[in-house]
Amino acid sequence: MLKNLLNKFRNRTSKSYQEPALMNAYARMPVSFVRGEGVHLWDEDGKQYLDALGGIAVTFLGHCHPKISEIISLQATRLLHCSNLFHIQEQAKLGEQFCRISGMDKAFFTNSGTESNEAAIKIARLYGHSKNIETPTIITAHGSFHGRTMGSLSATGKESLHKGFTPMLEGFSQVDYNNVDAVAAYADNDSVVAVMIEPIQGESGIVVPDEGYLQAIRTLCDQHGWLLIVDEIQSGMGRTGKWFAHQHEDIIADVVTSAKALGNGIPIGVCAARGKAADLISPGSHGTTFGGNPFACQVASNVIDIIEQQGLVETAANTGTFLKRQLQQKLGTHPKVVDIRGKGLMLGVELDQKYDNLAVKFLDQGLVVSVAGDGKVIRMLPSVLLTENQARQVAATTSDVVTGL
Ligand SMILES: *Cc1c(COP(=O)(O)O)cnc(C)c1O
Repeated sequence: MLKNLLNKFRNRTSKSYQEPALMNAYARMPVSFVRGEGVHLWDEDGKQYLDALGGIAVTFLGHCHPKISEIISLQATRLLHCSNLFHIQEQAKLGEQFCRISGMDKAFFTNSGTESNEAAIKIARLYGHSKNIETPTIITAHGSFHGRTMGSLSATGKESLHKGFTPMLEGFSQVDYNNVDAVAAYADNDSVVAVMIEPIQGESGIVVPDEGYLQAIRTLCDQHGWLLIVDEIQSGMGRTGKWFAHQHEDIIADVVTSAKALGNGIPIGVCAARGKAADLISPGSHGTTFGGNPFACQVASNVIDIIEQQGLVETAANTGTFLKRQLQQKLGTHPKVVDIRGKGLMLGVELDQKYDNLAVKFLDQGLVVSVAGDGKVIRMLPSVLLTENQARQVAATTSDVVTGL
């Protein structure tokens, strides 16, 4: 009797989630969120969490932003989908908005980050073929993450993610990140058509290259006629204190991909291009059924409006600086902390080693973060709604958890 009761209690406290019909694609943490508002999430027991992850850089405007929820409801009663066989006004408008903030000329809308990079890869190959380069090569970086479909996976510079999926696509060469010479070494290689780079490597643990790196890559691309493709899927949409992280170096790319925060939770991605790269896709050469539908575009259009009207790019810069300073104050001299880095609201705290169940220990304390960089980096990608008090709370909890390791 008592044993039964104890077991029942145990089952309640250490929940097991029954998901027999789901493929085992994710190592999920033992919590299930049922509601979100602003920077907070609630689990099924009503426990409140401060969300410093934002669904991995997605909910930049916070969970269930009232204006976005209103737009979602409105557009859901107007038109969700009609196909790209027809003109879509919401898409045309969003294209203009996105090109304005990214400095690009033309946009192609997708449903995800990886699809946005697929479009970029196809543009780079079209560009190569337009110059009679039969086997176009794209230079990417070791440690990079560009997505899970076969093209963007082949671009991704992490051997561990290729495992079990070879052969990879041909036409990619990986070089060390943050090493200009490694790219310059391809100067005489006639097959190179593009350099594809994350301005800050996200999945690798918020790896920020030296100042001047992206400028130097831009110069090399100009000298050799290569396209500069920046993957702003995680770092874009205002998060780092500029609309796009490469803009910190005052450069303009040839192709910009983005996704995550673009729809604040509604799936949408984009590949935008400039100059010669903007005119390579033609009817029949690329397309998508869902991509750029009226619903997703209406939402993304309003996301950009809100960020712009409320000056949230600058807020991200300020709040990010504040949060980083709090982390430095609390953890800067901690023996287990190796580095605190990042720009704006894209921050990482690197620890001296990998710790098991690190993110779960944060969950226990009511703080949502993720772990990147092979288990050593606490990654924070909070919403721009984070207040200074909440930033203090993030730093204090992080300090508590790290001290308890
Ligand atoms: C998340 C991410 C992707 C992949 O985006 P999905 O929407 O998951 O396909 C690609 N590149 C970077 C830099 C990312 O952070």
